Amino acid sequence: MIKQSFIGLAKPQIEYEVLVAGQPEPQLIQPSEKITLFLEKSPVPNDSILFNVGDKVKTGQKLSYSADTDTYVIASVTGTISSISAFAGDYGKSHTAISVDVDNNEELDDQFAELAANPTLDTARNFLSGMPGNPSFKAFSETAESIHTIIICGVDRDLLITTNQYAVKTHIKAIKNGIGILKQITGVDNILMTVPQHLMQDAIAGNAQVRVVDSEYPATLPHLMMQSLLDQVVPAGKRPEEMGVCFLSAEAVASIGRAFDEGRIPVTKTLTLVDKNGDKSLVSTIIGTPISDILNTYGITLHEKDRLIIGGPMTGSAVYSEDYPVQADTDAIIVQDSENLDLVSDYPCINCGDCVRICPANIPINMLVRFLEAGQYEEAADQYDLYSCIDCGLCSYVCVSKMPVFHYIKLAKYELGRMHAAEAMNA
Ligand code: SF4
Ligand code: SF4
Repeated sequence: MIKQSFIGLAKPQIEYEVLVAGQPEPQLIQPSEKITLFLEKSPVPNDSILFNVGDKVKTGQKLSYSADTDTYVIASVTGTISSISAFAGDYGKSHTAISVDVDNNEELDDQFAELAANPTLDTARNFLSGMPGNPSFKAFSETAESIHTIIICGVDRDLLITTNQYAVKTHIKAIKNGIGILKQITGVDNILMTVPQHLMQDAIAGNAQVRVVDSEYPATLPHLMMQSLLDQVVPAGKRPEEMGVCFLSAEAVASIGRAFDEGRIPVTKTLTLVDKNGDKSLVSTIIGTPISDILNTYGITLHEKDRLIIGGPMTGSAVYSEDYPVQADTDAIIVQDSENLDLVSDYPCINCGDCVRICPANIPINMLVRFLEAGQYEEAADQYDLYSCIDCGLCSYVCVSKMPVFHYIKLAKYELGRMHAAEAMNA
């Protein structure tokens, strides 16, 4: 295997979005009729699940397949389950889609409230995964290396998005509370918060060690922050958690702070909407709200061949229905007019080397892509450094042949992950 540094020679010149001074409050958009929640694929047959069509649910209620599984989703509204169906996400990831007809007479589930006065890691793990910002507490129990450092990201990972900057600017009290809770329940004292230069003063009130990050993409990706903040290189194929470092978004930490402070699980997600003209608006909406409700509020109509992207322009994924719901980690929705689409092509690689020069992981992408196109994923990993990729998407951005290089990479990693999981189960 080729061993490469994560820091390339060529630096891209693409700047992160800056939250403008006097940014208006996000527009609050309520779901018009129903919400849809995604629950990870059932590990047990569906006839044993604990919820059914026609069941009433309360806001904050846990929905899971069985009492002894840690896979769950939190009901973000009060209402009645109107359908349960299988949903295939990106790269064949399977979910159960649970639709709930919204009842405007909200009732709160009290299971979490009874435990909130005495915060513990178990309570956080059992109720708060999937809150706005999508905090995960798995790193505190699943890695052999115990977590010694938490890095809170006050800058968004992709371009055009200001969701986490907004959290630092306006919810610093909740973040401060969340940091206190994290210290208490995890025992980790070394907590850093990364922000752009202009939020330095706001961030200081959060009671974490504040670090300013570079304004050029992709400086806020975890692998690069491991290098710039901690002077540690994450080896190919490893995750920061395996080196004792856990990354959480500022929005997630604010959610943790609010949950334990108010005894109520937050369900309102902030995201950046980018319309067909490129105009950006901050939106707040309930997790599970269909994108169509947001588009309707802004008078955006989708026409044939327009594109809807969940996430930022570099790493986001296209979705094919405006019924797709807002998720706990949906930081942006981008609507692109069919007239302005940067289409992928089936032109071959012309070996220009632009992707190699811009790749922050120094991967020989011009060679790698040949194996990926042929579906030779193991060879791509063994000979051309697939696992050094830090998922920045710059290779696709610069490719003169408009090859979907980054999509090939994501597919290859997913397929290899599936193969290795199957091998481990059969071993
Ligand atoms: S997405 Fe492309 S440019 Fe970015 S690290 Fe991976 S191979 Fe390199
Ligand atoms: S930028 Fe595209 S065409 Fe150029 S070497 Fe990379 S994959 Fe090939």
